[in-house]
Amino acid sequence: MKTAPPPLPVARTQGAQIVLEDGRVLVDGVASWWTACHGYNHPHIRAAVARQLERAPHVMFGGLAHEPAYVLAERLAALLPGELDHVFFAESGSVAVEIAMKMALQYWINRGVAGRTRFLSFFGGYHGDTLATMTVCDPEEGMHGLFAGVLPSQVIAHLPKDDASEAELDRELSAHGRDIAAILVEPRVQGAGGMLFHHDDVLRRLRRLADRHDVLLIFDEIFTGFGRTGDLFACAGSGVTPDIITLSKALTGGTLPLSAAVASRRVFEAFWSDDTGAALMHGPTYMANPLACAAANASLDLFEDGDWLANVARVSAGLKAGLEPCRAADGVVDVRVLGAIGVVELERAADAGALCRRFAERGVWIRPFGKVVYLTPAFVMSDDELGQLTRAICDELGQDRGGRDEDGRHGH
Ligand SMILES: *Cc1c(COP(=O)(O)O)cnc(C)c1O
Repeated sequence: MKTAPPPLPVARTQGAQIVLEDGRVLVDGVASWWTACHGYNHPHIRAAVARQLERAPHVMFGGLAHEPAYVLAERLAALLPGELDHVFFAESGSVAVEIAMKMALQYWINRGVAGRTRFLSFFGGYHGDTLATMTVCDPEEGMHGLFAGVLPSQVIAHLPKDDASEAELDRELSAHGRDIAAILVEPRVQGAGGMLFHHDDVLRRLRRLADRHDVLLIFDEIFTGFGRTGDLFACAGSGVTPDIITLSKALTGGTLPLSAAVASRRVFEAFWSDDTGAALMHGPTYMANPLACAAANASLDLFEDGDWLANVARVSAGLKAGLEPCRAADGVVDVRVLGAIGVVELERAADAGALCRRFAERGVWIRPFGKVVYLTPAFVMSDDELGQLTRAICDELGQDRGGRDEDGRHGH
């Protein structure tokens, strides 16, 4: 945007810090869009990538395969609950969601069920920026108005938070159920759509509805996956197993682009035949990039000792204690924390650009959007750094925020 301040030039990163070209150091409250869960430049991940760089930085994944991908697929399948065992690698979150949607559509086609061409998703949801994923985002976030007539229309519903809304969704599915290929939801936290939390009970209700109406259930764990909510995966923590799950963001510990759509055995078996027409036709050029797979394997090594659990609990406690004082500030309507996610919600959209600049002047990197000022720090962040972040938010929101922007909505 013409009026937006230019981006800050970054010289390097280290731990939970971003070092700017002018020498200033910013404590990163965002972990680079929720990816750098172990902090930046982790030596174990760097060494794994460097070793793979010597062997094979990239090789096509059609007719050829490699150990880093096999190992990663096996490890993900072992970590995920139930029969989520069949892994498809891509390079970005949006593409993983596209693939999950394609899998769901073709699952019904392959089973000889016609007409299941739509998805049911939720207000407040965010699933990506590509055309198909926009259709399952919140109507405003997905710019459904701007692209009316271009985007196919899906069924967008409210999350079933109680018996009444479950009954409403049940009626919706009775009316549209035969058109619906899958229900798509971000479990526990709707991220880029507003950092909205919901109880695991919502997920149990969705599983029940999906089973009753025989539609697939897709969990988009691109944000929640890899420890962010206090469980390695929200599906595992909630005890609700979807039919397909999407992963990305922290998959490589924030080092290289990689994503995965993981299907259950039931979904996989609808594709497993000698009929070429039944195959899942998708082949991103850089799918299963070996450097990215090596980074993801190294990141999983770092989860193995279990230290992350204590760290997420520590960060969670720090966020709670540190953000709580904001509740008293003028214009704050809610303060909420889940795992290593801390959110201060404002009454009205703030001028995100100006606020971000003022945070940078205080030595912290925090990027508010819409009505939300949030922290998603690296799990390894020190208590001092965490205190710097929460103090900056409390101090800044305690002051008159000045120029507010009615139209403050923005992507993540
Ligand atoms: C970030 C995100 C995506 C999109 O991932 P990209 O890598 O930005 O394409 C999809 N779903 C969720 C829940 C996300 O948080």
